[in-house]
Amino acid sequence: MSQEDLSQVASEVAPCTKCGLCKTRTKTVPGEGKANAAILLIGEGPGYHEDKQGRPFVGAAGQFLDELLASIGVKRADVFITNVVKCRPPDNRDPLPEEISACAPYLDRQIAAINPKVIVTLGRFSMQKFFPGASISSIHGRARKVNGRVVVSMYHPAAGLHKAELRSTIVEDFKKITLALAEAEKLPDAEKPKPQDDQPQQLSLF
Ligand code: URA
Ligand code: SF4
Repeated sequence: MSQEDLSQVASEVAPCTKCGLCKTRTKTVPGEGKANAAILLIGEGPGYHEDKQGRPFVGAAGQFLDELLASIGVKRADVFITNVVKCRPPDNRDPLPEEISACAPYLDRQIAAINPKVIVTLGRFSMQKFFPGASISSIHGRARKVNGRVVVSMYHPAAGLHKAELRSTIVEDFKKITLALAEAEKLPDAEKPKPQDDQPQQLSLF
Protein backbone atom coordinates (compact mmCIF):
# COMPACT_ATOMS: atom_id res chain seq x y z
CA MET A 1 0.00 0.00 0.00
CA SER A 2 2.63 2.52 0.97
CA GLN A 3 4.72 1.74 -2.12
CA GLU A 4 1.70 2.50 -4.30
CA ASP A 5 1.07 5.75 -2.46
CA LEU A 6 4.72 6.75 -2.87
CA SER A 7 4.70 5.93 -6.57
CA GLN A 8 1.51 7.96 -6.92
CA VAL A 9 3.17 10.96 -5.24
CA ALA A 10 6.22 10.64 -7.52
CA SER A 11 4.02 10.47 -10.60
CA GLU A 12 2.20 13.64 -9.56
CA VAL A 13 5.46 15.44 -8.72
CA ALA A 14 6.97 14.69 -12.15
CA PRO A 15 4.70 17.07 -14.14
CA CYS A 16 3.99 19.44 -11.18
CA THR A 17 3.75 23.18 -11.86
CA LYS A 18 2.40 24.26 -8.45
CA CYS A 19 5.29 26.64 -7.82
CA GLY A 20 7.86 28.65 -9.76
CA LEU A 21 10.63 26.09 -9.23
CA CYS A 22 9.08 24.06 -12.06
CA LYS A 23 10.46 26.60 -14.55
CA THR A 24 14.12 26.04 -13.79
CA ARG A 25 14.29 22.40 -12.74
CA THR A 26 15.81 19.69 -14.93
CA LYS A 27 14.37 16.67 -13.13
CA THR A 28 12.06 16.49 -10.16
CA VAL A 29 13.49 14.74 -7.10
CA PRO A 30 10.58 13.11 -5.28
CA GLY A 31 12.80 11.11 -2.93
CA GLU A 32 13.64 7.44 -2.71
CA GLY A 33 14.19 4.53 -0.38
CA LYS A 34 12.35 1.83 1.47
CA ALA A 35 8.58 2.27 1.42
CA ASN A 36 8.08 1.16 5.03
CA ALA A 37 11.34 2.58 6.38
CA ALA A 38 11.59 3.11 10.14
CA ILE A 39 13.69 6.21 9.49
CA LEU A 40 12.72 9.07 7.16
CA LEU A 41 15.31 11.77 6.44
CA ILE A 42 14.10 15.13 5.13
CA GLY A 43 16.55 17.57 3.55
CA GLU A 44 16.04 20.98 2.04
CA GLY A 45 15.86 20.70 -1.74
CA PRO A 46 17.72 19.21 -4.68
CA GLY A 47 21.10 20.71 -5.60
CA TYR A 48 22.97 20.64 -8.91
CA HIS A 49 23.61 16.89 -9.09
CA GLU A 50 20.23 15.91 -7.68
CA ASP A 51 18.49 18.07 -10.31
CA LYS A 52 20.48 16.34 -13.06
CA GLN A 53 19.91 12.81 -11.77
CA GLY A 54 16.45 13.06 -10.21
CA ARG A 55 17.77 11.46 -6.99
CA PRO A 56 18.19 12.98 -3.51
CA PHE A 57 21.57 13.54 -1.84
CA VAL A 58 23.87 12.26 -4.60
CA GLY A 59 26.43 15.11 -4.46
CA ALA A 60 29.08 15.88 -1.84
CA ALA A 61 26.53 16.35 0.96
CA GLY A 62 25.04 13.00 -0.03
CA GLN A 63 28.39 11.29 0.24
CA PHE A 64 28.76 12.67 3.76
CA LEU A 65 25.21 11.54 4.54
CA ASP A 66 26.11 8.01 3.40
CA GLU A 67 29.11 8.08 5.76
CA LEU A 68 26.95 9.33 8.62
CA LEU A 69 24.43 6.54 8.06
CA ALA A 70 27.20 3.95 7.80
CA SER A 71 28.68 5.24 11.07
CA ILE A 72 25.49 4.19 12.88
CA GLY A 73 25.17 0.93 10.97
CA VAL A 74 22.34 2.06 8.71
CA LYS A 75 22.26 1.48 4.95
CA ARG A 76 20.77 4.02 2.57
CA ALA A 77 18.56 1.24 1.18
CA ASP A 78 16.92 0.83 4.60
CA VAL A 79 15.79 4.45 4.99
CA PHE A 80 13.72 6.87 2.91
CA ILE A 81 15.28 10.18 1.89
CA THR A 82 13.37 13.17 0.57
CA ASN A 83 13.32 16.96 0.65
CA VAL A 84 11.03 19.82 1.62
CA VAL A 85 10.88 20.94 -2.03
CA LYS A 86 11.12 18.44 -4.86
CA CYS A 87 12.60 20.83 -7.45
CA ARG A 88 15.95 22.60 -7.30
CA PRO A 89 15.93 26.24 -6.23
CA PRO A 90 18.05 28.18 -8.78
CA ASP A 91 21.69 28.58 -7.66
CA ASN A 92 20.80 26.55 -4.56
CA ARG A 93 19.11 29.54 -2.96
CA ASP A 94 16.87 28.92 0.06
CA PRO A 95 13.39 27.69 -0.84
CA LEU A 96 10.76 30.45 -0.45
CA PRO A 97 7.86 30.07 2.00
CA GLU A 98 5.37 29.83 -0.89
CA GLU A 99 7.45 27.10 -2.56
CA ILE A 100 7.62 25.13 0.68
CA SER A 101 3.88 25.37 1.22
CA ALA A 102 3.06 24.52 -2.42
CA CYS A 103 5.19 21.37 -2.10
CA ALA A 104 4.14 20.41 1.45
CA PRO A 105 1.20 18.16 0.49
CA TYR A 106 3.63 15.81 -1.30
CA LEU A 107 5.83 15.57 1.77
CA ASP A 108 2.80 15.09 4.03
CA ARG A 109 1.57 12.24 1.85
CA GLN A 110 5.04 10.66 1.89
CA ILE A 111 5.12 10.83 5.69
CA ALA A 112 1.66 9.26 5.87
CA ALA A 113 2.60 6.51 3.39
CA ILE A 114 5.90 5.59 5.02
CA ASN A 115 4.65 6.09 8.58
CA PRO A 116 8.23 6.17 9.92
CA LYS A 117 9.07 5.72 13.59
CA VAL A 118 11.74 8.39 13.46
CA ILE A 119 12.00 11.49 11.28
CA VAL A 120 15.42 13.09 10.91
CA THR A 121 15.34 16.68 9.71
CA LEU A 122 18.46 17.88 7.88
CA GLY A 123 18.84 21.66 8.02
CA ARG A 124 16.55 24.52 9.03
CA PHE A 125 13.70 24.13 6.57
CA SER A 126 12.61 20.61 7.47
CA MET A 127 13.19 21.44 11.16
CA GLN A 128 10.77 24.36 10.85
CA LYS A 129 8.04 22.05 9.61
CA PHE A 130 8.02 20.27 12.98
CA PHE A 131 9.38 22.96 15.30
CA PRO A 132 8.33 26.37 13.98
CA GLY A 133 10.46 29.14 15.43
CA ALA A 134 13.09 26.77 16.86
CA SER A 135 16.75 27.45 16.34
CA ILE A 136 18.91 24.63 14.97
CA SER A 137 21.82 25.64 17.20
CA SER A 138 19.74 24.91 20.30
CA ILE A 139 17.75 21.81 19.25
CA HIS A 140 20.20 19.89 17.06
CA GLY A 141 20.69 16.28 18.10
CA ARG A 142 17.68 16.26 20.44
CA ALA A 143 14.93 13.72 20.03
CA ARG A 144 11.45 15.13 20.53
CA LYS A 145 8.06 13.54 20.28
CA VAL A 146 5.72 15.05 17.70
CA ASN A 147 2.33 13.36 17.45
CA GLY A 148 3.65 10.06 18.72
CA ARG A 149 6.56 10.08 16.30
CA VAL A 150 10.12 10.86 17.27
CA VAL A 151 11.74 13.75 15.39
CA VAL A 152 15.47 14.49 15.58
CA SER A 153 16.84 17.67 14.03
CA MET A 154 20.33 17.77 12.58
CA TYR A 155 22.48 20.43 11.00
CA HIS A 156 22.47 20.04 7.23
CA PRO A 157 25.29 17.67 6.13
CA ALA A 158 26.44 20.33 3.62
CA ALA A 159 27.23 22.62 6.59
CA GLY A 160 29.61 19.98 7.94
CA LEU A 161 31.56 19.88 4.68
CA HIS A 162 33.00 23.33 5.25
CA LYS A 163 33.27 23.60 9.02
CA ALA A 164 35.27 20.97 10.87
CA GLU A 165 33.65 21.61 14.27
CA LEU A 166 30.17 21.28 12.79
CA ARG A 167 31.24 18.06 11.13
CA SER A 168 32.04 16.45 14.48
CA THR A 169 28.81 17.80 15.98
CA ILE A 170 26.84 16.16 13.17
CA VAL A 171 28.71 12.88 13.64
CA GLU A 172 27.85 12.96 17.37
CA ASP A 173 24.23 13.98 16.71
CA PHE A 174 23.74 11.07 14.29
CA LYS A 175 24.46 8.65 17.12
CA LYS A 176 21.20 9.83 18.73
CA ILE A 177 19.21 8.28 15.88
CA THR A 178 19.81 4.76 17.18
CA LEU A 179 18.66 5.89 20.62
CA ALA A 180 15.64 7.68 19.16
CA LEU A 181 14.63 4.54 17.29
CA ALA A 182 14.82 2.49 20.48
CA GLU A 183 12.68 5.12 22.26
CA ALA A 184 10.16 5.19 19.41
CA GLU A 185 9.80 1.43 19.56
CA LYS A 186 8.93 1.68 23.25
CA LEU A 187 6.08 4.17 22.72
CA PRO A 188 2.73 2.73 23.79
CA ASP A 189 0.36 1.87 20.94
CA ALA A 190 -1.98 4.76 21.65
CA GLU A 191 0.85 7.16 20.99
CA LYS A 192 1.97 5.52 17.78
CA PRO A 193 1.15 7.75 14.84
CA LYS A 194 -1.86 6.88 12.78
CA PRO A 195 -1.20 7.07 9.03
CA GLN A 196 -3.24 10.28 8.63
CA ASP A 197 -1.93 11.81 11.84
CA ASP A 198 0.91 13.70 10.24
CA GLN A 199 0.22 17.29 11.19
CA PRO A 200 3.11 18.75 13.15
CA GLN A 201 2.09 19.29 16.73
CA GLN A 202 4.56 19.08 19.51
CA LEU A 203 3.37 17.01 22.44
CA SER A 204 6.31 16.75 24.79
CA LEU A 205 10.03 16.39 25.10
CA PHE A 206 12.08 13.54 26.39
N1 URA B 1 20.84 18.98 -0.11
C1 URA B 1 19.56 18.73 0.21
O1 URA B 1 18.98 19.34 1.10
N2 URA B 1 18.93 17.80 -0.46
C2 URA B 1 19.49 17.08 -1.43
O2 URA B 1 18.81 16.22 -1.98
C3 URA B 1 20.83 17.35 -1.74
C4 URA B 1 21.48 18.31 -1.08
FE1 SF4 C 1 5.66 21.24 -7.63
FE2 SF4 C 1 7.14 21.01 -5.42
FE3 SF4 C 1 8.34 21.22 -7.79
FE4 SF4 C 1 7.08 23.31 -6.75
S1 SF4 C 1 8.89 22.28 -5.90
S2 SF4 C 1 6.92 22.62 -8.86
S3 SF4 C 1 5.33 22.34 -5.71
S4 SF4 C 1 7.04 19.52 -7.11
